[in-house]
Amino acid sequence: MQISMKNRTGYFGDYGGQFIPEILKPALRELETAYTKLKKDQHFQQRFRNELRDYAGRPTPLYYAENLTHHYGRGKIYLKREDLNHTGAHKINNAIGQILIAQAMQKTRIIAETGAGQHGVATATVAARAGLECCIYMGAEDMQRQFPNVQRMRLLGARVRSVDSGTATLKDATNEALRDWLVNVGTTHYIIGSVVGPHPFPTIVRDFQKIIGEETYRQIFEKEQRLPDYIIACVGGGSNAIGIFTPFLKEPSVNLIGVEAAGKGLDSGKHAATLGRGSVGIFHGMKTYILQNKDGQIQLPYSLSAGLDYPGVGPEHSFLYDSKRVDYHSVTDAEALSAVRQLCRLEGIIPALESAHALAFLNYLMPQTAQNDIIVVNLSGRGDKDMSTYINHLCQPQGELS
Ligand SMILES: *Cc1c(COP(=O)(O)O)cnc(C)c1O
Repeated sequence: MQISMKNRTGYFGDYGGQFIPEILKPALRELETAYTKLKKDQHFQQRFRNELRDYAGRPTPLYYAENLTHHYGRGKIYLKREDLNHTGAHKINNAIGQILIAQAMQKTRIIAETGAGQHGVATATVAARAGLECCIYMGAEDMQRQFPNVQRMRLLGARVRSVDSGTATLKDATNEALRDWLVNVGTTHYIIGSVVGPHPFPTIVRDFQKIIGEETYRQIFEKEQRLPDYIIACVGGGSNAIGIFTPFLKEPSVNLIGVEAAGKGLDSGKHAATLGRGSVGIFHGMKTYILQNKDGQIQLPYSLSAGLDYPGVGPEHSFLYDSKRVDYHSVTDAEALSAVRQLCRLEGIIPALESAHALAFLNYLMPQTAQNDIIVVNLSGRGDKDMSTYINHLCQPQGELS
């Protein structure tokens, strides 16, 4: 391992960088050069926007949740409906952008790592459409837990490679994907699924996800002729949160709130609250807050929600945390589950368990808001993928909802 950033490009304050084996540097340099050019290329940007519109189904609605608002008796709660995207979550935004990069770089093969399988499905989806070979690395343990997504990826023509090393979960799958990239970098593009990893990935993924915030900005002005007072998003690696926050970072009147997974409780040791309980270290090619023990070993994260079960966080969030521009909080599995039931009953929307963490924070926020405050919650995904969890935790044996 070597610290390879000499200047501060690729850093957010003190966080980010490229903490990777020397041998991967040419691949990252090639990607950075290609992306710097594409970012300014009108044709590329237009194609990205067209794909988001015609394939993903954007713009997603900004929906006034009237019943949820009445439940709290104050404010005005809007939901940014990322759950209505093709494949059911915001991850497709990034996958679409990155497959266009891969094609511009004339790569013929796509690899990705996946934990819950959501990013794997989004990647397999865009690879199928582009006609590119696709290989997804997934921990053996995660493959068992998320089997329907394994079947989806296979149906879409991807090869799913089981990773048995370590704890057989996301961090081990990531190591294998990096190893593959090292060997096959000539033909292969590695699509990282969140605003994490070595530079330039956190920047690229943010640029593709900021469409969420750009639409929200426009839509809230159409509906309310003013900025919102609060924006809430869940934080795993942090891409849906960065996506909706980015255009509002320059608006100091907008309070930005990131919600991490407190799992079984912050003091139980079984959580994924990286900013809440972590410390600065090196992980997955970046300097950022991570969950680690006293010897610097990665501490196994826990959340009932597989998409938040990650021991690090994007470096830009570490910067926003230190600078206090964004407030970070956490809610437990139980609080998120009860937010799922609440949204189902009040609004007829089954949210993803990840997104329910952002919704659950309303219980803390709403009693403190002013009567006329506008609150936007990023509903990052839909709950179809979580049905077995919901059946196990929210239904009685007779099938009645508890
Ligand atoms: C993957 C996922 C997340 C967590 O990832 P971020 O990069 O933090 O956005 C959140 N919500 C849903 C629905 C997901 O699939």
